[in-house]
Amino acid sequence: MKVRVDTEACVGHGRCYVLAPEVFGADDRGHCVVLVEDAPPELEEQARTGAANCPERAITVEG
Ligand code: SF4
Repeated sequence: MKVRVDTEACVGHGRCYVLAPEVFGADDRGHCVVLVEDAPPELEEQARTGAANCPERAITVEG
């Protein structure tokens, strides 16, 4: 599964990396950094959870 974040849309709520810490991390401003861009099957649920809970719809998952 491909995981991407739109850094223009991310405002740093932090919901993604709180709910899915193995897939998403934070930069020094609290904005999202994708830790695993090619998520293996065991991390797909976390990737989907992060995407579903981003208020800005900044996260895209495909595959
Ligand atoms: S939940 Fe969305 S807006 Fe918040 S840090 Fe994550 S990607 Fe950015």
